[in-house]
Amino acid sequence: MSFIQLRDLTKTFSHTLKPAVDSVHLTIEKGEIIALLGPSGCGKTTTLRMIAGFEQPTSGSIKIGGEVVYENQFTVPPEKRGIGMVFQDYALFPHLTIAKNVMFGLSKWGTRAKRERAKEVLELVGLADYAARYPHELSGGQQQRVALARALAPKPHVVLMDEPFSNLDAGLREKMRFEVTTILRKANATAIIVTHDQKDAFAVADRVVVMNEGVIQQIATPREMYRCPKNCFVAQFVGKTNLLSGRLCEDMRHVDTHIGRVSLPAQSGVMLENVKVSIRPEGCKLAEEGRFTGKVERVTYSGEYQEVVVNLGAGTTEPMILYAPIDQDVQPGIVVSFDITPELVALVE
Ligand code: ATP
Repeated sequence: MSFIQLRDLTKTFSHTLKPAVDSVHLTIEKGEIIALLGPSGCGKTTTLRMIAGFEQPTSGSIKIGGEVVYENQFTVPPEKRGIGMVFQDYALFPHLTIAKNVMFGLSKWGTRAKRERAKEVLELVGLADYAARYPHELSGGQQQRVALARALAPKPHVVLMDEPFSNLDAGLREKMRFEVTTILRKANATAIIVTHDQKDAFAVADRVVVMNEGVIQQIATPREMYRCPKNCFVAQFVGKTNLLSGRLCEDMRHVDTHIGRVSLPAQSGVMLENVKVSIRPEGCKLAEEGRFTGKVERVTYSGEYQEVVVNLGAGTTEPMILYAPIDQDVQPGIVVSFDITPELVALVE
């Protein structure tokens, strides 16, 4: 049985008509790391707060570890749900040492057990030598590891993290994504991480849950979500894409679009005539004699690749976005041709 089960979880704030969280259905396995990903206001934090017990659902139920913690009423109060929380600003107590911060949630433990557990979790997060320091004497990344150590100290069933990386600069952010995942895995924790950043979500999560306007759009592994976005929202929210309308061919393996015939990775399961395809920029590869030809409008150098915007000529609407390797000489104004890799093409709703 799944470790966490959310069934039809809905939250409508009293003065609003539209639910902030709308019939969310989600099951999470023990030890799994899940990212709730979506734009600002899509209901991520509200979902997290309902799981934690800080917010009362309007309807639906929540099970943690096989136990119903909410169904029409709180059946298990927040403090008894076995949840460790890491807040966006870490919420460390400035007047307490790192060790005391970590011991804060262990009030019912004996003095010796508390000290031992604090030592253990500080070792886990690589901060054993910082026990006597105060939060202001630590870097942002170190403070975050303390917050994680404090959340893990009481051996929670679940760790919930709200935008854990948003206070960190780009370099540290990348490092902490890796460290946080490593620590959570070592602790064998089941975790839900809320973020609006696709890179955060993809780097840390086993499965990503994309939400929009309170509704789950797709639940998938990062790879699956990038390669096979279910709808236009996911295709556009998770990375860049080219969205084209077209007609599904009779063989159900190709779509006729305004730029020409595009191959699908597999036969379509739907028989719709009018369809939309998402073509990832990585799937458009410049080639000497490619099937598609256009004029380069713009080239943006990102360091890792070049984003090339290609206009496919009169009558076509949106230009296509391609990613070209940085060693390839591509200039605005030149004519290029390219092929499309079917594996990076998806039919979307
Ligand atoms: P962000 O990334 O900006 O934190 P989010 O995806 O976490 O956004 P929520 O904070 O869950 O979104 O908010 C979802 C919706 O519910 C928003 O429209 C928000 O304005 C509304 N909302 C959240 N808390 C309350 C509240 N206490 N009272 C009324 N409306 C609220």
